[in-house]
Amino acid sequence: MKNALIIYAHPEPKSFNAALCDRAVSVLSEVGYEVVVSDLHAQNFSPLLDRPDFTSAADPDYFKPQTEQMQAVEGDSFAAELKSEMDKLERADLLIFQFPLWWFGLPAILKGWVDRVFAMGFAYGPGIGNYSRGRFKGRKAMLSLSTGGPLSHFANDGLSGALDVVLWPIQNGMLNFTGFSVLPPFVAPGPARIGDNERAALLTAWEARLRSIDETRPLNFHDLDDFDLKGPEPGRLKPGITGRTVGQRSGL
Ligand SMILES: Cc1cc2nc3c(=O)[nH]c(=O)nc-3n(C[C@H](O)[C@H](O)[C@H](O)COP(=O)(O)OP(=O)(O)OC[C@H]3O[C@@H](n4cnc5c(N)ncnc54)[C@H](O)[C@@H]3O)c2cc1C
Repeated sequence: MKNALIIYAHPEPKSFNAALCDRAVSVLSEVGYEVVVSDLHAQNFSPLLDRPDFTSAADPDYFKPQTEQMQAVEGDSFAAELKSEMDKLERADLLIFQFPLWWFGLPAILKGWVDRVFAMGFAYGPGIGNYSRGRFKGRKAMLSLSTGGPLSHFANDGLSGALDVVLWPIQNGMLNFTGFSVLPPFVAPGPARIGDNERAALLTAWEARLRSIDETRPLNFHDLDDFDLKGPEPGRLKPGITGRTVGQRSGL
């Protein structure tokens, strides 16, 4: 049996995001996944990466988050709240972030989940590898989000900017960086601005995406080998390798 982990971030249990989360649980269960939900507000999850993340301190005089994280991996000294989330993540073949777009990004509670759970030494860092050689290679992740604005705001020439540019820090900086294959996002545009029938249609569209999730092609990110990592300008594409991921539309 495959495992799915949904990280759900919305403060209102009757919200449209809650409906999207519930639909994902029922459909993924039908198509053969064991589904676990981290309901961050219900869990009262703290977004703060700070001393209480650890049951012991590498350096009690100077708090350097990544040093403490690496020490906690070695010493098995993450707080119980984090161990539990890391265990869920270890088991997940499919990771879904379900959230409303807030200030062009993740709500703070979900950003904090990433800060704290994608810890150095666990999700990335020395000896682990990143991007196409990342820790979660072979697993899939995707975003399911709602917006306030209509889809046209997220067109290439739209007011908010192209959707893949808006989502780049999450899709590339968090998910691709840690090795996930990133599936195209599902967007529910402006659920508060439309009627019940249109909202029902959005839930049906989400259901269709979920039913075909195992056949969905991931977004196209460059392999790490496409980049020159040692030259005078490390991190740039090697000569002759063309194309960028940002700017390539993801289905809209
Ligand atoms: C701090 C902040 C920053 C923001 N920044 C941005 C931004 O940068 N860009 C942007 O575009 N937007 C932004 N927004 C707007 C935000 O993205 C939207 O308000 C949000 O995505 C709407 O989703 P929701 O789940 O909160 O909708 P809700 O308002 O909870 O729900 C919409 C409607 O759906 C109904 N509903 C619930 N369940 C069902 C169901 N099962 N079937 C049918 N209808 C149902 C509800 O009753 C409600 O009438 C921001 C909002 C905040 C608070």
